[in-house]
Amino acid sequence: MAATSRGTSPVPPDVRPRLTVLSGPSGVGKSTVVAHMRKVHPEVWLSVSATTRKPRPGERNGVHYFFVENEEFDKLVANGELLEWAEFAGNRYGTPRRAVLDRLEAGEPVLLEIDLQGARLVRESMPDAQLVFLAPPSWDELVRRLTGRGTEAPDVIERRLAAATVELAAEAEFDTTLVNTSVEDVARELLALMLQASGDRESSD
Ligand code: ADP
Ligand code: 5GP
Repeated sequence: MAATSRGTSPVPPDVRPRLTVLSGPSGVGKSTVVAHMRKVHPEVWLSVSATTRKPRPGERNGVHYFFVENEEFDKLVANGELLEWAEFAGNRYGTPRRAVLDRLEAGEPVLLEIDLQGARLVRESMPDAQLVFLAPPSWDELVRRLTGRGTEAPDVIERRLAAATVELAAEAEFDTTLVNTSVEDVARELLALMLQASGDRESSD
């Protein structure tokens, strides 16, 4: 099998939606996997984060991110409108709280694609959340993907690779690891994990 998972267990009969967090080093393929999953399953809801980063070519406001200025981000933080937020490689990113809580209250599974710091904060505030780590097949392949994407300047790539060494060292903090060899396989496995019941993590430990 191209994608490997660790720590997963069979789907129990009592399926309740839960919050799933997908993290992994920059360039590993998180956006690609999520985009593929949503192409096959448009009903899957993904939280749209706010960020102070400038849009990449093709990125749309309100679709990929809410692109905001520093002052607007300050306000979101001050007003308690973010479930979590973090600074990553020189920009700030945060998850709008209300939309996530509304979906969970409506009984729908929720997916966050956020960095390691954000994943740790979510674990603290929502211990029932399921943390999924997306790992590269190798370090060299991660470097190839990040540079091959062609969206960041060399100094930004350096910062992101420095962050990646820290993130890769934290893999054991996650409930499950998926290795991104095949986008299709990982997208399928991620969806299956999202549909797993709340509380399953505790009972499978
Ligand atoms: P992230 O969102 O984790 O920063 P991206 O989704 O932007 O990463 O992917 C980084 C680059 O790697 C992109 O050019 C993407 O096309 C490529 N990529 C993603 N998954 C795979 C894969 N399984 N095999 C080969 N290339 C991939
Ligand atoms: P990028 O600039 O490549 O889109 O994202 C950089 C990093 O920020 C990635 O690891 C991505 O998962 C993370 N990120 C995106 N949105 C959020 C968010 O709302 N909160 C946190 N903590 N990280 C985020």
